[in-house]
Amino acid sequence: MARIVMKFGGTSVADLDRIHNVARHVKREVDAGHEVAVVVSAMSGKTNELVGWVHGMPKATGASSPFYDAREYDTIVASGEQVTSGLLAIALQSMGINARSWQGWQIPIKTDNAHGAARILDINGDEIIRRMGEGQVAVVAGFQGIGPDNRVATLGRGGSDTSAVAIAAAVKADRCDIYTDVDGVYTTDPRIEPKARRLKKIAFEEMLEMASLGAKVLQVRSVELAMVHKVRTFVRSSFEDPDAPGMGDLLNPPGTLICDEEEIVEQEVVTGIAYAKDEAQISLRRVADRPGVSAAIFGPLAEAHINVDMIVQNISEDGSKTDMTFTVPSGDVEKSLKVLEAAKEKVGFDVIQHETGLVKVSVIGIGMRSHAGVAASAFRALADKGINIKAITTSEIKISILIDGPYAELAVRTLHSVYGLDKK
Ligand code: ASP
Ligand code: MG
Repeated sequence: MARIVMKFGGTSVADLDRIHNVARHVKREVDAGHEVAVVVSAMSGKTNELVGWVHGMPKATGASSPFYDAREYDTIVASGEQVTSGLLAIALQSMGINARSWQGWQIPIKTDNAHGAARILDINGDEIIRRMGEGQVAVVAGFQGIGPDNRVATLGRGGSDTSAVAIAAAVKADRCDIYTDVDGVYTTDPRIEPKARRLKKIAFEEMLEMASLGAKVLQVRSVELAMVHKVRTFVRSSFEDPDAPGMGDLLNPPGTLICDEEEIVEQEVVTGIAYAKDEAQISLRRVADRPGVSAAIFGPLAEAHINVDMIVQNISEDGSKTDMTFTVPSGDVEKSLKVLEAAKEKVGFDVIQHETGLVKVSVIGIGMRSHAGVAASAFRALADKGINIKAITTSEIKISILIDGPYAELAVRTLHSVYGLDKK
């Protein structure tokens, strides 16, 4: 017997038929004698609709902030998950399964006060554990908790993945299954490279890089949590027949296991290729080369909540002037330029240049730690295709390369085959 947390995303609960299908997946695990807690998202499109309703409302008279009252935003957008938790509980009951829905505040899932992007601080899993012991399935509304102000708080878009992993950690589950509309994590986006392969396993660190670099399978925060609490997390499809052979396999269900690197025996050098579109490059030319300059540039950008990614600073020739280049999401360019112009005197630079529509392609693999020449083969392969590299950053387990947007797909396919990731 095992304790399993099963999470179902928006497309998996998109209508009543699919909710019934989800109930069959749950029944399979219950019938096998496991203790089960389920976490659900809102029906697909529902959260967008709710957010749209908020934006359709007039703002409070005299409000100076361009934003709506975040507590009321949360009250509204958290309702989508409330609906699916109740519907799934009813579907399970109709199959003779003892099930009960739970909202975040009832457990409680305690969060901080950052309404709209709250972080989970603590979950009391006692009551759910007790009821699972009595054979009851807990159906938990994802994406929500309760803040220190005693009001509903939501975890940011895609947050029900994080709810699921956090609950799995709190109830000490053996496994957290994230059911979605794809059947696992792939070596790269199969829409770009049909030869992409489904990975059997991927290490937490690698998944963290894949998720933050644009592989939108999981909310990044959920992977961080899984890594910290060592929650073995499976990404698998809810669209397969719930009773197909192997679906109930305890150790090797179909899908991709995200796990500790120790569990991965046959480690490849490179695990996957990720890409992020709509990057922009900003260069400050002839910046004074003295202490405090980087702080003067990136401090104000951070205060303006601009997410700076790659940063490249050259070593100056004569110790007086240097160039500073960095990337931001294309949508933040105008704001960044304004912030930098305002800081011009303090920073001391000559001109700002910028370019939008760039793409960052990244090669990821923990095997890189112990292999030389991984970067060199990427550069060689891209050169052979005539792709110009605009900037490079590396970490222990990742090489990121900035290129012109139109070359994105060619670069992804080229790197995928260079590292032997293509399906045979
Ligand atoms: N329903 C929320 C969203 O669409 C949370 C989630 O699905 O993970 O962002
Ligand atoms: Mg999601």
